[in-house]
Amino acid sequence: MSLTARELLHKLADDAGLTYPTVAKRVNRMMRKGSGLIESVQEIAVEHKLKPSKYKINPVKIVNETEKILREDYTQTLMISAVLGQMVEARGKERFPPPAFFAYTEMLSRISDTPRDVKSETSVEIEERTTRVIELMTTLVSVLCEWSEQGVVGVAGDCPETLRDIARAIFRKTKLLQGGLWTCISCGNIVEARETRALMCIECDSKLSGSRNIEDRFESLGGNDRKGYGRSTE
Ligand SMILES: [Zn+2]
Repeated sequence: MSLTARELLHKLADDAGLTYPTVAKRVNRMMRKGSGLIESVQEIAVEHKLKPSKYKINPVKIVNETEKILREDYTQTLMISAVLGQMVEARGKERFPPPAFFAYTEMLSRISDTPRDVKSETSVEIEERTTRVIELMTTLVSVLCEWSEQGVVGVAGDCPETLRDIARAIFRKTKLLQGGLWTCISCGNIVEARETRALMCIECDSKLSGSRNIEDRFESLGGNDRKGYGRSTE
């Protein structure tokens, strides 16, 4: 079974005898009109006389693989977080979609009990893991949430019970952001998006004495201050 949207589109392209860009463009167009990822893929499958049930993604497996990557090495996870944090603040094509970023912060909260290890990955390995996490998270939001032209509009009808909390959190934070509000990645307080400093509220930012290093920011998530999202050990 495919784990990411890219893998699923490749499988459909191969089976239908189409090129990957053709399938990808078509699916993007359908999704912009409010159709879900799986729904779009299955519709194209049917057009090509393929069995739609063969084209599925299991979100539970995405969560499991992401947790496994994030538990591998603490420093690596910090570096992945730093890259994603910078990407969500970027503009234009480079931008990591906020709903996928919110999915990522939910994943981080699930691994908060991970012991810090000393294993160190090479920069190439870290880059590979980062790319993988980006793919996993963008796929996860497209299957857990209900989408329309406006973006995330709710929790997908077929979202598994165990992942509904994640889907709800993504939806809530995305809706707030659409209204100009940001959920601080450290304390979880809701503040004006334009008043945030590198993903944090002004108070949390000043506690870091203005450090612009985004790794420091994610590091602070592991501290006792953390109440923001999900479980915290206090
Ligand atoms: Zn804060």
